[in-house]
Amino acid sequence: MKECPKLAADRMLMRLARWMRLLGADVVTDASLSGAEFLKVARAEGRILMTRDKRLRTASDVMFVESNAIRDQLREVVIRLGFDARAIAFTRCSLCNRLLSPIARELVIRRVPAYVFASNDRFAQCEGCGRVYWPQTHLARIRALLDSIGV
Ligand SMILES: [Zn+2]
Repeated sequence: MKECPKLAADRMLMRLARWMRLLGADVVTDASLSGAEFLKVARAEGRILMTRDKRLRTASDVMFVESNAIRDQLREVVIRLGFDARAIAFTRCSLCNRLLSPIARELVIRRVPAYVFASNDRFAQCEGCGRVYWPQTHLARIRALLDSIGV
């Protein structure tokens, strides 16, 4: 399996960007920029731009996403990139794309729902926004999703 390349997602694919981050992909977004403007930014950072903009379809460093529905988009992109989503899932924040770090369980007791605290041994925190994740539950869901879309 290949490593996942660095990615960018234009403003038509914000939901796909969040899901790809949950799968561990490094994906930047900028809702303020148009497709062509954002392509310049993506190129400067050595990223492949995922887009639904047909005008960018033939540009280099662009992955034109054919599908409309989020599950189909995920299947399409994961298969085309050929990376092992199961190996790197839950290493990155879905909101801000920063890496997650382990955090001691006792430090999250007031920051997660009681049932979550009770049913998880391990927690991780975003180095950027501080959001807390509980990888055991999340990973089970992601694996089920990947199974259901056949990747
Ligand atoms: Zn974050």
